[in-house]
Amino acid sequence: MARIDRRAVLLGLGAVAANGASLAGAGTAPIYDDPDAVYAALRSQPGQDLKIGGGTITIVFADGAPGLARGPVLSWIRTAAMALTAYFGRFPVRDYGLLIIAEPGDRVGHATTYGYAGSATRIHVGMDAGRVAFDRDWVLVHELVHSALPDLPRRALWLQEGNATYLEPIARARIGQLSPETVWREAVAGMAQGNPQAGDAGMDGTRAWGRLYWGGALFWLLAEISIYRATNGTRSLRDALRRINSVSGGNTASWSPEHLMTVGDAAIGATTLIDLYTRFATTAVSTNLVDLFQELGVSPGADGEPVFDNRAPLAKLRERITARDGDQSAA
Ligand SMILES: [Zn+2]
Repeated sequence: MARIDRRAVLLGLGAVAANGASLAGAGTAPIYDDPDAVYAALRSQPGQDLKIGGGTITIVFADGAPGLARGPVLSWIRTAAMALTAYFGRFPVRDYGLLIIAEPGDRVGHATTYGYAGSATRIHVGMDAGRVAFDRDWVLVHELVHSALPDLPRRALWLQEGNATYLEPIARARIGQLSPETVWREAVAGMAQGNPQAGDAGMDGTRAWGRLYWGGALFWLLAEISIYRATNGTRSLRDALRRINSVSGGNTASWSPEHLMTVGDAAIGATTLIDLYTRFATTAVSTNLVDLFQELGVSPGADGEPVFDNRAPLAKLRERITARDGDQSAA
């Protein structure tokens, strides 16, 4: 998932990232664009293990990552892993490799996640990145979400990118890294880019950026709402995703989207996911976002921050989605 801007990430998923270029690949430095080179580096270079949530993260600083301070990087990785553990109830894969590549700059750069030879992510980190950059970073949590679900065929990329786009801020809110206001402000702004345009067909096979990321995220929000309604609030999307994660073991497995939905549905005792998936995959589904956010009790405030209406029909669900981990009201 090579990064273009905040959500404009291209797709890796077992293939070389579409844009190929690596900022760290200049001069004679080794290039890790080839996923086999990423796996080889994770196997052969010195690394350190971080155990969290029942999983082991093997961290390798590629070629020593000269100029990159270890402490802030390790604390950033630990926080991201805690966000995933909060959402899934455990770190989502048993063994996960993380290749850290130092590059010039003060931000977290682009990243790609692979699963075919073990769950692994390659991520670029600016040598001048400080606490603010690490606190603001969304890329690592996004990549970790990819590791949690089975790999899917290319036609279903929107489900994977949509899932990571939807869950990343929620997982971070669950450990207090983002406020509910931030989560919903971004959802309102982002999902406006997710509806189909004139002439668009179903989501399967779409390559349009807005639909892949935010159309996909909108699908998962609608799944959340459908599950809430179908089960009178006794089950949640998280129950379905936890089951999918535990049955598959994460992105080392390759599934069909139909199987993924069926396994998720079994966890909630309904056919909500497969029904919604079939509709979205095959037809252009347009969602009235004004009505949707009104039902959730989210309306835009004067300063751009959302205002919450706790009497809205889905206000309880909205509160549950971003509840802090350990809060008993959490879904
Ligand atoms: Zn992604």
